Amino acid sequence: MNSPERIIQEGVSLKSFNTFGIDVKADFLSEIRSAVQLRHLLQEEQWKTKELLILGGGSNVLFTGDVHALVLLNRIDGIEKLREDDHHVWVKAGAGVVWHELVMWCVERGWGGVENLSLIPGSVGAGPMQNIGAYGVELKDVFYELEAMKLDDLSVHTFSNADCRFGYRESVFKRELRNKFFILSVTFKLSKAAEIRTSYGAITAELQRMGVQHPGIREVSNAVISIRRSKLPDPAMLGNAGSFFKNPEIDEQQFELLKQQYPNVVGYPTSPGRVKLAAGWLIEQCGWKGKVVGHTGSHKDQALVLVNYGGATGNEIWQLAIDIKNSVKEKFGVDIEPEVNVY
Ligand code: FAD
Ligand code: NAP
Repeated sequence: MNSPERIIQEGVSLKSFNTFGIDVKADFLSEIRSAVQLRHLLQEEQWKTKELLILGGGSNVLFTGDVHALVLLNRIDGIEKLREDDHHVWVKAGAGVVWHELVMWCVERGWGGVENLSLIPGSVGAGPMQNIGAYGVELKDVFYELEAMKLDDLSVHTFSNADCRFGYRESVFKRELRNKFFILSVTFKLSKAAEIRTSYGAITAELQRMGVQHPGIREVSNAVISIRRSKLPDPAMLGNAGSFFKNPEIDEQQFELLKQQYPNVVGYPTSPGRVKLAAGWLIEQCGWKGKVVGHTGSHKDQALVLVNYGGATGNEIWQLAIDIKNSVKEKFGVDIEPEVNVY
């Protein structure tokens, strides 16, 4: 029986719940507003054997068919300051809070660390999943701890930064613990006198264009917002999930060989002996940038972003991704892996 606390919808279209705008159906969907509600729901007999799929803003998923699961739509709200000392502030946010709203909440109070991550779509709870990153900052740099419910026995666990085993667009939740925990809240440690990071990408040029000489975190946030608005397709206008692939890491030796053949290859050293390649550059060199294939294609300004021009199926987009991956492998001998979670 449905009560206001427990509303289960059946046969729901997920079109408005994923930024690719793929029109598939979920067997069941329920909005989750608290840990207590989640526990009550999952204690019911009928869900004990049903597949579960957690969804936040749907900005990092590709659905290739109907979802035969109970979709748990995370809408756990609330932001609060837990404590502070002379230098830092600890802020806890419900996992369903919109990420950019949290960033704005911190910027307004002058608490730094997340400003470079302005305007990343999606929810706070999905942030740790792939250790979201942009403009030289990753979530792990400001992450303190998170609380998550284990889906099989409904116990609540706290994960420290080390427990999450963050990597480049990676965490334990994307690997070993995939689909095993529902992240309920995340606590961040922010700085009262934040170090301003403007050296990455176009931030410095954008600040100059804006006439800003002594940027603070608000100006950095504004610059990032402005660059992102000018470079990235808005999912509300053109379905997409941001970068479809992760930037691949290769050995320095392989990089040197590539450089001999392709002197303009874009690479950034990561750890000793390892180099990160810009996947967007590789894809562009294979001729995909701006190419339209049926209802889908690689975006004209951002080769790494695959788009739905309207009416695309998830399988169409997935086939394009496979074709792109194969051509990059053939031309450069490099494997690129999807960043997007494919279902
Ligand atoms: P969803 O797409 O809903 O879910 C993603 C995955 O996380 C799914 O597997 C889901 O099951 C799981 N998940 C979601 N919530 C939870 C939870 N509470 N507990 C456990 N698992 C959960 N990403 C970046 O890192 N940097 C960027 O700069 C960036 N820019 C983007 C720009 C655009 C235009 C778009 C469309 C996407 C961009 N992304 C970027 C990708 C995306 O915004 C992030 O990955 C974001 O964190 C996804 O949040 P979400 O709530 O939409 O997650
Ligand atoms: P860009 O500035 O054109 O740079 C292209 C690529 O080179 C990026 O992928 C970036 O890697 C890398 N790069 C640039 N400067 C670097 C430096 N100083 N050191 C190390 N690596 C460097 O990238 P963009 O496409 O406009 O995106 C800007 C930022 O937003 C990037 O950080 C990008 O990751 C992020 N973004 C992410 C998504 C997503 O869905 N994941 C979507 C849009 C934008 P990194 O990606 O490792 O930063």
